[in-house]
Amino acid sequence: MLAMAGEEEKQRGSGVSRRQLCAAACAGAAAIGLFGLKALPAQALVRPPGGQDAERLMARCIRCGRCIMSCPWRVLRAEALSEGVIGAGLPVADFSRNWCDFCASAGGAPRCVAACPTGALELPPDGESVVLGIAEIVPEWCLPWATGERCKRCYRVCPSQYRAIKRDKQGRPSVDPEKCVGCGSCQKACLKPEDGSLAPSANLRAIMVRPL
Ligand code: SF4
Ligand code: SF4
Ligand code: SF4
Repeated sequence: MLAMAGEEEKQRGSGVSRRQLCAAACAGAAAIGLFGLKALPAQALVRPPGGQDAERLMARCIRCGRCIMSCPWRVLRAEALSEGVIGAGLPVADFSRNWCDFCASAGGAPRCVAACPTGALELPPDGESVVLGIAEIVPEWCLPWATGERCKRCYRVCPSQYRAIKRDKQGRPSVDPEKCVGCGSCQKACLKPEDGSLAPSANLRAIMVRPL
């Protein structure tokens, strides 16, 4: 019974999509004109596991926030209207808050995906691994790269099953894009401006995950 209700909701979620898209487009156009809001974020946002198909996420997500509430590590938040009218309310993985361990320490299966009633978040079939994005280093903001100072924060926290960060002889880190899954642990650990980061804004770090 519950499964049937879930299926109905999933179907309803996909059925709503056209109306939602039209409504979002109309509201977006009005808001962009009236308030000078952006249609899309300045840079693409990282989505929760299973939300990497942007078209499906946009079409199916009903902005209910269940994925956000289900995250045990509070990694997720809703996209703000000021970030982009079209995606407002969609879930964002925000690594300034925490990083995503794919719920390995909370049962083993991503809770956000299980909580989604519409299929907007859907894992790839056959246990294919989920990649949220790839971490990128901004050398101008990274201490070892920019100043030669010693810093191993990102290197230390990259989970042992990925080991995606290596350091050269001068201690300068680099990311192996073949190994990185975009978990955000490095971004979360990177120095904040108040801790001495060279990055100019509170939410920016010298290593940041970019969606694929
Ligand atoms: S997989 Fe788990 S830790 Fe990662 S965003 Fe989803 S609920 Fe949060
Ligand atoms: S649970 Fe699904 S439908 Fe609800 S906000 Fe999250 S992605 Fe969207
Ligand atoms: S996002 Fe950072 S910590 Fe996570 S796998 Fe990639 S390099 Fe390692």
